[in-house]
Amino acid sequence: MRMTIGVLALQGDVREHLRALREAGVEAVPVRRQSELDTVDALVLPGGESTTIDKLLRAFELDEPVRTRLRAGMPAYGSCAGMILLADRVIGGIDGQRTLGGLDLTVRRNAFGRQVDSFETDLVIDGVESSREDPVHAVFIRAPWVEEIGPAATALARVESGPAAGRIVAVRQGSLLATSFHPEVTGDTRVHRLFVEIVRDAL
Ligand code: GLN
Repeated sequence: MRMTIGVLALQGDVREHLRALREAGVEAVPVRRQSELDTVDALVLPGGESTTIDKLLRAFELDEPVRTRLRAGMPAYGSCAGMILLADRVIGGIDGQRTLGGLDLTVRRNAFGRQVDSFETDLVIDGVESSREDPVHAVFIRAPWVEEIGPAATALARVESGPAAGRIVAVRQGSLLATSFHPEVTGDTRVHRLFVEIVRDAL
């Protein structure tokens, strides 16, 4: 089935997501204005800086159009800053920071600590073909984790060891998917393929 997935292209690692989506076999386009949003079946919210993306969404008058599409059931996938944007509740946001919402959970910004900016680990993710022998290598960059998950959302992966052991880092709620980490930077397209499946099921 033909589908077009947009990547919100206001700030962040837009190119990496476009490449991963194309490798996963779908048409992918950057979205900067409402006319572009209107042409896509689903939207990726990239990693970057959630406070900046929030400000730019409002400056470009895209925040309400995206919220409206999300409420109408548009599938969306957020990585890192994108997970923050999809969360209903944020701990550690800046004054006045807003999210688009949709995921019944609370994220903690910069949860993995500021000194250790980057953290990497192997994950087994529900819904993604992965196992202890063939895990998904996850890269976290000043990443949030899911502090509290509400009944509407489902945890797909948790960190297995180290100081963050047990923390939820991948979630799904209907057609919404979010990860604390950045699968777009590792060349492993399994998480993007899961999103493509979610979009296909939703259409
Ligand atoms: N710390 C960033 C934020 O709060 C997210 C970092 C990232 O997307 N790599 O938006």
